[in-house]
Amino acid sequence: MSLFDDFLELIFPEYCLMCNGSLLKNEKQICLYCRYHLPVTNYHNDPNNALMQRFAGKVNIKYAWAFLKFTKGGKVQNVLHHLKYNGKKDAGILLGKWYGSELRKREYHTEFDSIIPVPLHASKLKKRGYNQCDPIVAGLSLQLGVAAYPIALKRNIHNPSQTRLSRMERYDNTKDIFEVADYESVRDKRILLVDDIVTTGSTLESCIMALQKAKCKEVSIACLASAQ
Ligand SMILES: [Zn+2]
Repeated sequence: MSLFDDFLELIFPEYCLMCNGSLLKNEKQICLYCRYHLPVTNYHNDPNNALMQRFAGKVNIKYAWAFLKFTKGGKVQNVLHHLKYNGKKDAGILLGKWYGSELRKREYHTEFDSIIPVPLHASKLKKRGYNQCDPIVAGLSLQLGVAAYPIALKRNIHNPSQTRLSRMERYDNTKDIFEVADYESVRDKRILLVDDIVTTGSTLESCIMALQKAKCKEVSIACLASAQ
């Protein structure tokens, strides 16, 4: 660290993207305490995990995983907010790499051909400047050694407010939201579909339907966080 860096740190101290505490000089983005106390789900060690059960009977998938547990007002919400709205893409890469190294320990890197993010609608992409899933995908791809295809899927329509629709109307409404834009990365491929956070799973379901319509071999899901 140069004197100038010290000076900058004095004016713009860096904060942990999870707990908001000041970072020490050798800490980057997420402090040591938060790194050692990540609220992990360990879903990848349990084939019948809670997320897998959420998709049961709805879509046919091989694995459903989420790295971290999301709690309202918690540390995971904080880091996701920074990733999504404050341009902290490095945090997504970092967490994607950590997650990738956990999956690699279980040899899962041999089970996928393509890593594909849930896409944003073009107008939202223009407004935000980037898809918050792309850094997560990049981190996973680096660690797993599996190719990333950031534009394999395309979002055709904004997710309209669905609160007043019946279940059947909702189904019709979501089934063609997404389409495959790059068939080469999908057809006959074992796909790992990535989102930042999963709640009901309906967005992921729509993506899975589009991937299966384009004749992928199989689909699995890996999200950075899961809301219970
Ligand atoms: Zn922290």
